Amino acid sequence: TLSKQQVLEWLLRCAEVFTRERDVLTQLDTEIGDGDHGLNMSRGFNKVVEKLPAVADQDIGTILKNTGMTLLSSVGGASGPLFGTFFIRAAQAANAKQSLDLAELQQVIQEGVAGVAMRGKAEPGDKTLCDVWWPVLESLGQSVQQQRGLPQALQQAAVRAEQAALATIPMQARKGRASYLGERSIGHQDPGATSVMLMMKTLAAVAE
Ligand code: ADP
Ligand code: MG
Ligand code: MG
Repeated sequence: TLSKQQVLEWLLRCAEVFTRERDVLTQLDTEIGDGDHGLNMSRGFNKVVEKLPAVADQDIGTILKNTGMTLLSSVGGASGPLFGTFFIRAAQAANAKQSLDLAELQQVIQEGVAGVAMRGKAEPGDKTLCDVWWPVLESLGQSVQQQRGLPQALQQAAVRAEQAALATIPMQARKGRASYLGERSIGHQDPGATSVMLMMKTLAAVAE
């Protein structure tokens, strides 16, 4: 299972990762956007960590909800509402739990992604962060079916996430700022998709 402590550890490490990868993400967003994605993600997750002590004693749902609200209020642009919605919807599924088994974690992520898809209205192949979330979900679903252990399932999901982030390179953007570039968005990795991949790799590392 994934404990509440591991969820907290995940959020802490996300802040570190987004701080470290800020310039990489910003470079990706400079190529097909307005160059603020790295700053958005690092600012958002550092704010989340700042506010963690206030909810660290609470259940996983409360921690995730707090994370979502903080991202919503501290990150502008497209990604603030999208990542904010992910955590707020995921929080509803996590509810008052203190730990999540693999099937529960899959459910929590599925709810979060459903919220993101509803909000952003992206379709598969639109070159958005959903193009990583969907393969991740599929991978986790397969792992639930095959009764894999949670660490192994997350490891596989992280590998899928890396492949999926790379797979956004040849796509033409049909949502968000990158879509304004039309065919010129082809040949660049989507920044938001890259951030989801980083979150999944970080989650896999925490669960190891
Ligand atoms: P902004 O584009 O407002 O500057 P960011 O740069 O922080 O916001 O985030 C850009 C990312 O948001 C894109 O790389 C893409 O993955 C994601 N994105 C944009 N629009 C959508 C959408 N409608 N649905 C899903 N993801 C989207
Ligand atoms: Mg941007
Ligand atoms: Mg912006």
